[in-house]
Amino acid sequence: AAPGAAATVDDLPLRENLRGKSAYGAPQLTVPVQLNTNENPHPPTKALVDDVAEAVREAARELHRYPDRDAVALRTDLADYLTRQTGVPVTVDNVWAANGSNEILQQLLQAFAGPGRSAMGFVPSYSMHPIISDGTDTTWLPVLRGADFALDVDAAVAAITEQRPDVVFVTSPNNPTGHSIPIAALRLLLDAASGIVIVDEAYAEFSDAPSALTLIDEYPTKLVVSRTMSKAFAFAGGRLGYLAAAPAFVEALLLVRLPYHLSVVTQAAARAALRHADETLGSVHALAAERVRVSKALADTGFHVIPSDANFILFGEFADSAAAWQAYLDRGVLIRDVGIPGFLRTTVGLASENDAFIAASDEIATMYL
Ligand code: PMP
Repeated sequence: AAPGAAATVDDLPLRENLRGKSAYGAPQLTVPVQLNTNENPHPPTKALVDDVAEAVREAARELHRYPDRDAVALRTDLADYLTRQTGVPVTVDNVWAANGSNEILQQLLQAFAGPGRSAMGFVPSYSMHPIISDGTDTTWLPVLRGADFALDVDAAVAAITEQRPDVVFVTSPNNPTGHSIPIAALRLLLDAASGIVIVDEAYAEFSDAPSALTLIDEYPTKLVVSRTMSKAFAFAGGRLGYLAAAPAFVEALLLVRLPYHLSVVTQAAARAALRHADETLGSVHALAAERVRVSKALADTGFHVIPSDANFILFGEFADSAAAWQAYLDRGVLIRDVGIPGFLRTTVGLASENDAFIAASDEIATMYL
């Protein structure tokens, strides 16, 4: 046994609010069809791989020096990309970057939440929002979504007004349900909020809904839009998340970020990947078409399918979703049990992967629907 293995977590002087909690745990299994973490299934092109390799080789000459603490060149490239993708002109001063949008969210809670403060989310939603709240000792205030998991805007406004959270999380499109929030509804939440509103747009490129970026100028002290290169951008392994907000937010985050948090290698690789944005995002249309195809196949088989604006689909209703999840795995298809009784979530994959998923679904429907 490893030295010290006799001690358990319960034996440690862990902070009270972390006792008994579970770690983030999407299973990482090697199976033929992996549709469980909402990645882009298209591997990088040879041109992108070559460009990243060359950029990292160049950067390696400077490995004895710390990286640019403020990642100015990378943030400039991200601002250009956001301006092109959303049509909202943003500059380097509006953009901050970190190791995945999870780190962006953590830095935001470090600065704007923490002990004695609270964060609200509309559940079911992204499971890391409560986990990052726990990690920063922020009180988590869950509010249930309405029928078919759509955001009930009136109930959301009422909850914000009554509970006055320091941070409101709005995920659009929402993981795991796939709904986008219209700008008009977002305005109502922003008007009701006394603290900040983080719009988590991890899946924005998959949706035709306008980005919350259009509201930054109107709500400079409240609105933060979080984004990532992990999903549509096919860069999950590169770990690069970012946000857009009024420049004051970027200044605030400098107070909590660790110096040099983005390595020389990360910055160089992300900039190289950004140069290939157009070819990478070319796969987004194909994935949207596959989403329509898979949704229809599931509905035709008799499943209840939640309409999705993203690269994943929530579907049910299973008599026993845990057993159904295992039945998919037994057929070599790894999907996600997000903890909603009766429902499972599949990521839209390559056509051949989706075919395998649909074939498994046809069999599993006869067993568990
Ligand atoms: N937000 C949402 C809604 C997500 O689904 C995810 C990834 N599952 C993230 C943020 C974090 O992704 P990353 O840290 O890779 O940017």
